[in-house]
Amino acid sequence: MTIKEFVALEKAKLAEQAQSFPKKPHLVIIQANDSPASDAYVRGKIKDCGEVGAEATLCLLPPTVSEEELLNKVQEYNEDPNVDGLIVQLPLPPQISEKKVKLAVNPGKDVDGFHPLTTFVPCTPKGIVDYLTEEGFPFQGKNAVVLGRSEIVGKPMSRLLLSKNCNVTVLHSKTSEEDKAFYIAHADLIVVAIGRLGFLDNRFQYKPDAVIVDVGINRNEEGKLRGDAIPDLPVALQTPVPGGVGLLTRLALVKNLFIAAKK
Ligand code: NAP
Repeated sequence: MTIKEFVALEKAKLAEQAQSFPKKPHLVIIQANDSPASDAYVRGKIKDCGEVGAEATLCLLPPTVSEEELLNKVQEYNEDPNVDGLIVQLPLPPQISEKKVKLAVNPGKDVDGFHPLTTFVPCTPKGIVDYLTEEGFPFQGKNAVVLGRSEIVGKPMSRLLLSKNCNVTVLHSKTSEEDKAFYIAHADLIVVAIGRLGFLDNRFQYKPDAVIVDVGINRNEEGKLRGDAIPDLPVALQTPVPGGVGLLTRLALVKNLFIAAKK
């Protein structure tokens, strides 16, 4: 099943579930930047909520907002019983500590899964594992390589794959090219999240039955969205960019919102 088909099917299931809820699940998005990329992500999240029968509220703050004002807003929504899920769109302006904001969100409403005590699986890793599960990927004992070790993708991805009993290797910018080639050649699953246009290409060897999950979002010279892997690598399955992990991440967010609403 393609990612688009999978997402459409899962959204239809959520929309049906929403009918049995006493009230619509409610997501609040706080945005304190004027980045066009963030605007597009936020529009996508609001659209997704509408499609699955959830309510979304955008709290738009000026990029000049103080840390105290933003933290007060977070607190207000933390305490509001009508709010099930609360996320703060990144990036934040320089005067605001991302760490403080992530720690301020009530872990029970932290549907992004960023708080250390959160009960929610971060959206990108969750979306990827849900899709691979649907595709019948046999995680147990498989060699998984995660390229990138960020707090929002690489690290939670590696922990989630470990919990699925994969043999997980995390590669990063300090890994030698020789070692990258070695681990990639032995990988059954490669999750690439480094933000380097077309990094995975034909200079590497791949197992023919390998799966490549491309998290990267880059612009090519023509300004088009492209991933961290070149298209059509000689593997069994490769997720596209666009139309790939971004959609799975958005789906995982509404799934987390529904879990929060059920609580
Ligand atoms: P990030 O914070 O941008 O960090 C990049 C990671 O890649 C770091 O761990 C870095 O290693 C590693 N890295 C950089 N160059 C490398 C190289 N040549 N070889 C191996 N590792 C290298 O990571 P991120 O926030 O996870 O973002 C990664 C990409 O995913 C970006 O393109 C971002 O836009 C995209 N993204 C997509 C989604 C989605 O839903 N589709 C969600 C989140 C992010 P060091 O730790 O050693 O510096």
